[in-house]
Formats: sequence, C-alpha cells, structure tokens
Amino acid sequence: MDLMLQEKVYIVTGGAKGIGAATSELIASLGGFVVIVDRDGKSNDLLVSEIKRKGGEASAIAIDLTLPESADRAVGFATETYGLLNGLVNNAGINDTVGLESGSLDGFEQSLRKNLFHYYAMTRNALPFLKKSKGSIVNISSKTAETGQGHTSGYVAAKGAINALTREWAVELLKYSVRVNCVIPAEVWTPLYEWFIGQGDSPEEAKEAIMQKIPFEKRFTTPLEIANTIVFLLSKRSSHTTGQLIHVDGGYTHLDRMI
Ligand code: NAP
Repeated sequence: MDLMLQEKVYIVTGGAKGIGAATSELIASLGGFVVIVDRDGKSNDLLVSEIKRKGGEASAIAIDLTLPESADRAVGFATETYGLLNGLVNNAGINDTVGLESGSLDGFEQSLRKNLFHYYAMTRNALPFLKKSKGSIVNISSKTAETGQGHTSGYVAAKGAINALTREWAVELLKYSVRVNCVIPAEVWTPLYEWFIGQGDSPEEAKEAIMQKIPFEKRFTTPLEIANTIVFLLSKRSSHTTGQLIHVDGGYTHLDRMI
C-alpha cells in the first residue's frame, strides 16, 4: 500500500532514538520529509546522516522540550525549513519513577513537564499549519496509564492525560479535518527500556521474565512495529480514523495470561 507520504512534512519528538527513531526512518523511507526534535544532538546528527545516505530527507533540531519556548523553536524550525507541516508525532518522554511514597510534589511537577506539557505546547504551535494541511497528530502513550505500574505517579498521570487529550483534541479539531490518534505501547525494546531494566539487580533475568508475560510470541514489540502503526495513522490511508487509542502490544494489556 502506498501511504502517500511523498514530500509531506512530519515532526517526530524524541525522534532520534527508540520508537521515535524507527518512526523517523520509516517516514523518510516512504518519501516523507522528517523533522527530528530531540535533545540528543549527537544521535540527531547520526540519524539525519543515515537517512540522507539512504536517499531520504531529514533535518533535526537539538532541543530539550522541557525548556520554555522549545515548542516555538521546534515548530518554527520545521516550517521555516520546509514551508509546511502535515503531521506531528508527540513521542518524547521518560518513565522517571516519581512514586507516591518515594517522590515529591516538585518531582511530580517535573515529571509532567517531561512527559505531558510539551505534547500540549507542540500541538498548539503546530495547529495553524496542521489546519492548512488537514494534517494528523499521533500521541504516544503507555499501557501504564490503564494498568498502573507502581512507583511512577508522574509518568502515569501524564500518560493518562495524553489518552484523555487524544479524545479531547480529536473532538475540538473535527471542524478542521485534523485527526488525532494515540498509540499505546507496552513492552518495546528501546534505549529507554534498556536503561529502565538496568536499574534493577539482574537485568537479563528481568528481561526474560517480562518476555514470558507478553502473550503474543513471548517477545518484546519492536520499535518498527510501533512505527508502522504511527505512520499509518499519520497517512491519509487512515482518513476516517480519529480519536482512537490503539494498543500495539502483543496483547499485553488485554489478553488472558493463563496460556
Ligand atoms: P527512548 O529510547 O529513550 O527514546 C526517546 C528519545 O527522546 C531519546 O532520544 C530521548 O533523549 C528523547 N527525549 C526524551 N525526553 C526529551 C525531551 N524532554 N526533549 C527532547 N528529547 C527528549 O524512548 P522510547 O522507549 O522510544 O519511548 C518513546 C515513547 O514511547 C515515550 O513517550 C515512552 O513513554 C513511550 N513508551 C515506551 C515504551 C517502551 O516499552 N519502550 C512503553 C510504553 C510507552 P535522551 O536519551 O537524552 O533521554
């Protein structure tokens, strides 16, 4: 299926590594122009070079999205570089384990800043351009918004809000034919996941134990499997899909674990 991304422009936050990097690469491989917004400047440069080496088009801006004015700068950079915007993937985030007992109010607020506020800021700034292009927004959430995880109140609060805002924005933007959807991963093997599991005592054993709990094929979801769904939702091939929360998780969130 041709997803018709050619010469269309897409911003991917956190687009230099993990799920975001797989999305950036996929967009470019299908002829889209990708703007990577990620604080890791070195990974930005490496990925842009790699995409260009393969004949694709990409640009990157190194920005920490928790800082004031970062969304202005990111959207400004994308639209000044390419003159239009067809889609936004709100993906940057971190499971920073700010718990109820272990955390603090300040830590909780910082967590929302890392995981939620920039979704709103990026969407607000991108909106005038997305209205023009009848574009598409894809928010990346987490199964923890529905299942809880324990010891990570800030992250889970942010992801729950992202699920709610997906529906809220989908309704508000109906009149502009701008679609808003959400992809909900559970266990995806990425640098963030590797870091997260590395915090424990025996990472290899923990990894094996987690895989045994993933119903479909007892394996992690790959970043590309998430990216495939994100890119479909960005494309006009999903032209009547809006306000949806789509789990790409090998059945982790909903299926019976007895088998
Ligand atoms: P990742 O491997 O850490 O990649 C995310 C990228 O975003 C990194 O380059 C990171 O930079 C960057 N980033 C993070 N915060 C940023 C900020 N404030 N400003 C600019 N760049 C920032 O993460 P991932 O596992 O692909 O996760 C991507 C999304 O999927 C997140 O929203 C996460 O919550 C969600 N998710 C992931 C999983 C999973 O199993 N991996 C499960 C559920 C949900 P640094 O390396 O400097 O942090």
